[in-house]
Amino acid sequence: MDFALGLSSISAATSAAKELLKLQEIINSAEAKLKIAEIQLSLADSKTALSSANEKILELETKIKELKTQSQIIDRLERKGELFFDPQENLHKCPNCIEAVMIAMTLHVNPENKSEIVCKKCNSNYVNPNYDPNKNRIARGHRSAMEI
Ligand SMILES: [Zn+2]
Repeated sequence: MDFALGLSSISAATSAAKELLKLQEIINSAEAKLKIAEIQLSLADSKTALSSANEKILELETKIKELKTQSQIIDRLERKGELFFDPQENLHKCPNCIEAVMIAMTLHVNPENKSEIVCKKCNSNYVNPNYDPNKNRIARGHRSAMEI
């Protein structure tokens, strides 16, 4: 990797600078001391810049992996009305998040209103295609009987 090569070059240059420091004792001139100090400072700056570039590369590689995974999920989705359906996971995915940020977010049944499914990322609500109003009415009737 070019980056690793860059780091080893800097390490080699740092070693060379240390050798120069030994020579400095021999030379023992103020001008040489100043030059060596400048070189060391410049190498330290380069190391910092390379380190931060490496962090950015790792960050981007993670993002690319994430986008590839999302792209594979999105490719297998089927459009069902306004929703996307994942036949592999048997789950509905948020169309808003897919269109806005390319992330296939799973939609969850709203515990307060089971006729809705909601996205935890963008808070969009959709009609729950699996909602059974008869089942819900029985449950509510049962709940009211318990409250009395
Ligand atoms: Zn969403």
